[in-house]
Amino acid sequence: MAHIYLASPHMSAEGYEQEYIKEAFDTNWIAPLGKNVNEFEKELAAYVGAKDAAALSAGTAAIHLALKAAGVKEGDVVFCQDLTFSATANPIVYEKAVPVFIDSDHRTWNMSPDALERAFETYPGVKAVLPVHLYGLPADMEQIMDICRRHGVPVIEDAAESLGSYYHGQHTGTFGDYGIFSFNGNKIITTSGGGMLVCNLEEEKAQERMKKARFWATQAREPARHYEHKEIGYNYRMSNIVAGIGRGQLKVLEQRVEQKRKIFACYQEHLGDLPGVSFMPLHEEERANCWLSVMQLSADCPVRPLDVMIALEKGDIESRPVWKPMHLQPVFAKCGYVDNGNVGTSLFRQGVCLPSDTKMTEEDLKRVCGIIRGLWK
Ligand SMILES: *Cc1c(COP(=O)(O)O)cnc(C)c1O
Repeated sequence: MAHIYLASPHMSAEGYEQEYIKEAFDTNWIAPLGKNVNEFEKELAAYVGAKDAAALSAGTAAIHLALKAAGVKEGDVVFCQDLTFSATANPIVYEKAVPVFIDSDHRTWNMSPDALERAFETYPGVKAVLPVHLYGLPADMEQIMDICRRHGVPVIEDAAESLGSYYHGQHTGTFGDYGIFSFNGNKIITTSGGGMLVCNLEEEKAQERMKKARFWATQAREPARHYEHKEIGYNYRMSNIVAGIGRGQLKVLEQRVEQKRKIFACYQEHLGDLPGVSFMPLHEEERANCWLSVMQLSADCPVRPLDVMIALEKGDIESRPVWKPMHLQPVFAKCGYVDNGNVGTSLFRQGVCLPSDTKMTEEDLKRVCGIIRGLWK
């Protein structure tokens, strides 16, 4: 039987990606600039409804440049979602700013507006707020934006996992001043590696900020014939080959969202009746991309998350725990943390990310569900 992945790259059946790459080869634009890069920026901005976009080498690079664009400097406090992947928080430290981690709530699994409000009462000098749309579940952007606007603090949305997810009819990543997306190998669409920074400020400002981001991303070279530098730059630009893959993948994004949501519905249907089992929260007024299907086991459930992961591993099936909260990570142990009943910690302890690979067949899904059900017998 074939190995089942958690989430693996899934190129279009039509071969769109290769057509764009071929064009890049034929015109010898094998560089971090060219038609695919420019078009991918435009196409992604149009798809999500952002004012402008900058194609970069990674989602992490996009978070880094968003923090710089938002004016975050050494010693500034940044409120960051606690339950997330470390890549959300690391760039705060690249800039020598200070992350303070904000717990999640049960309704969204993302940044708790309650805890955020309390955080503003405790910490002065906050320069940015970084909510995440974890597993493609939209954060409560209405309340988060409301609080942040009242305090006059810019918002950077980590939408790395939520391409294709909508909150109240608007795409995630377009509520805050900046949004970031990732095209890493495990994401809903991939370019083998890459990221996008989008800006949602008014048109002129957005273009100016994204122009600055592209400047930082190409070694901060001043417009001079010789090499002139007034600022520290980075090598963060996306290559024209990688962007070609992205353009092709964007054509099948809607298809992938549909498949991911079907996988989640299948788990709900076939495992939902097991005692102690519940699933990540989807809400009527939203469309989550269901990047990963996440199951929760109640504290008194005799089957533990590790039992599920080990049983699947024996069947050559990949699964993984929910992200370990940042305030529990040794590297961030000294950082501030504003809790909301430690929701993130319990989601981590009681959760399992089930295989969510869009290449799975119905047989594969049946096999996964069969192994899990077997643990309750
Ligand atoms: C993948 C991911 C990132 C980083 O994206 P890269 O493209 O891998 O740098 C950031 N935040 C979250 C929540 C992610 O899942």
